[in-house]
Amino acid sequence: MFKKILIANRGEIACRVMQTARAMGVGTVAVYSDADAGAKHVAMADEAVRIGPPAPAQSYLRGDAIIDAARATGAQAIHPGYGFLSENPEFVEAVEAAGLVFIGPSAGAIRAMGLKDAAKKLMAAAGVPVVPGYHGEDQEPGHLKVEAAAVGYPVLIKAVAGGGGKGMRRVDVPGEFMNALEAARAEALGAFGNDAVLIEKYVEEPRHIEVQVFGDGTHAVHLYERDCSLQRRHQKVIEEAPAPGMTAEIRAAMGQAGVRAAEAIGYEGAGTVEFIVDGSTGLRPDGFWFMEMNTRLQVEHPVTEAVTGVDLVEWQLRVASGEPLPMTQAEIPLKGHAFEARLYAEDVPKGFLPATGTLTHLAFAPGARVDSGVRAGDTISPHYDPMIAKLITHGATRAEALVRMERALAETQVAGLVTNLAFLRKLAAHRGFAAGDVDTGLIDRDVEMLSAEPVPCTRTRALAALGALGLHQGVPGIAPGFALWAPVEHVAQFSWKGEQSAARVSVTGPHDYEVVLEDGRHQLASKGGTWLMDGAKTSAHVVRNGAVVSVFFGNGYHFDLADPLDEGGEGSAGGNLIEAPMPGLVKAVFARAGQAVVKGDRLAVLEAMKMEHVLVAARDCTVAEVLVSAGAQVEAGAALIRLEPDPEAAEATEDAA
Ligand code: ADP
Ligand code: ADP
Ligand code: MG
Repeated sequence: MFKKILIANRGEIACRVMQTARAMGVGTVAVYSDADAGAKHVAMADEAVRIGPPAPAQSYLRGDAIIDAARATGAQAIHPGYGFLSENPEFVEAVEAAGLVFIGPSAGAIRAMGLKDAAKKLMAAAGVPVVPGYHGEDQEPGHLKVEAAAVGYPVLIKAVAGGGGKGMRRVDVPGEFMNALEAARAEALGAFGNDAVLIEKYVEEPRHIEVQVFGDGTHAVHLYERDCSLQRRHQKVIEEAPAPGMTAEIRAAMGQAGVRAAEAIGYEGAGTVEFIVDGSTGLRPDGFWFMEMNTRLQVEHPVTEAVTGVDLVEWQLRVASGEPLPMTQAEIPLKGHAFEARLYAEDVPKGFLPATGTLTHLAFAPGARVDSGVRAGDTISPHYDPMIAKLITHGATRAEALVRMERALAETQVAGLVTNLAFLRKLAAHRGFAAGDVDTGLIDRDVEMLSAEPVPCTRTRALAALGALGLHQGVPGIAPGFALWAPVEHVAQFSWKGEQSAARVSVTGPHDYEVVLEDGRHQLASKGGTWLMDGAKTSAHVVRNGAVVSVFFGNGYHFDLADPLDEGGEGSAGGNLIEAPMPGLVKAVFARAGQAVVKGDRLAVLEAMKMEHVLVAARDCTVAEVLVSAGAQVEAGAALIRLEPDPEAAEATEDAA
């Protein structure tokens, strides 16, 4: 076994590899870019070497710098993780030329599978069923269109160098072919520097089922299948093992096809053979076709680990260091069912836009395996994949594993940036998915329902009110505090997505509150870290970070506390507009247009929630305009009084610009 290895990657996969290496007593070396100097994978490693600036081309893709780091630290082998240099045959050759071991397949095996067209020809020759289509050299558009007609519409145009769902276009009718070809080529050229394409029959109701294989360079075994049919734009979202509807007969046929593929190229290490399956007729022993082989550890490998009990990284290290395959085919168990969900920083209602930001709060529930490369306080930067974590659950049955996943998602808490958590939760609860009716079109068909943003209920807003007043951790300074707080009613103001809310909070005991909202009333009590709501125990949790209150109650809801009366408050008129913080009745107006006021002067009184609320000047200034008069009923956010702009603030803004 190696004494020390270098992990040429970042994020969750670097952490995942180090965890197993550490358990095996193998020393670990991390590499990092300037953006990752304080990252979790650096903290976890025994040693860490800086390799360059944030851009991947100047850091994680710099094979020379990585090999130098391995030499300098005395690492004997390099684990590439996935992505980056993991499927780069020149890197494998450079690693070997430096006298180091590449933990993965040979350069030759990677090359054989590197281009989809060559791989398909090779697989067909090895007796592996491949998707019917055109894989020829002639790339002349007119010729490709003739071939597409011969294959029969609908067809899929695919970049031969493709990966990650890029450079792919479905074409339903001949009239759309030329435009789709142009688009696929442009995307392929940009992403892979190679615009060659192949044409495949588009399989109807497609299911993506892949086989995990493991080779020693001569012989291979398989560790059963994974179903990755829940996809968005050809990218996996939730994966599972085994595949719904799988039978022993089809499993044996697919497993053998995977093993044949691996042995045909003398495969060493962990790999995945991906098949497309016609889901319209149910699974059949002759209804699956080879799509491609991924010559690396796959993102979704944990579901296989969950159902087999095998640590695939441990196998990788053993086989790369010269040990035989740890198990024979017959010895590999298959127990229960597992799911993996990919948690990303992305804005789902805005079309799954990748998001960045700082994770001000991050907590996971027990009961799920969590593979993550970030901690609370870490940043999701624009330089890399915005993955936050993978959640993996296992159960004796599919239903059990799925219930655990739903629960794990509901109990995951993320604040500071937007995530796809609510989307994953809806997907996990999707009826068709629960029934095992999966195909790659499932998400798109129901995308509207799945991406709808959950709206906070009155109980959630009642908790937000406590957070806004700083009462979510109990009444400050219990004994005297209780006396201070008890007789008074407090008004909390907060907004959700720009929608203003207000609540009246009475402290009725050291940990007991009554919260009155415009549209509801709740008794809340916090007992030993658990919230009782109207007498019932709930698993809600409230966190406050600066001017943001996050309430985790099934989903995560984030409320802004920005007070329109705050100095320099971000009102729509740059803090010059005084708005009604809640709906109410204007009781009195003291301000007059043109009047000079000093900070703290009373400008108006608003009666709301049966309380008087005094609006005061936040700075010395001149009243520009009075927009309401006493007796007016106003909505939350209504403009009441406009102030002359602050000349100093205006200068500061100009300076900044
Ligand atoms: P999986 O089947 O494991 O989900 P993907 O194709 O989605 O595989 O890619 C897994 C990882 O590899 C992702 O982080 C993705 O960004 C990266 N990746 C995939 N293809 C490429 C490529 N051609 N070049 C660089 N990175 C890639
Ligand atoms: P990548 O290298 O980008 O992962 P793949 O060839 O593995 O490309 O295909 C990615 C996804 O595209 C598959 O998981 C599947 O959803 C869809 N797909 C690929 N080939 C076909 C096909 N012939 N018919 C229908 N869908 C397909
Ligand atoms: Mg693929």
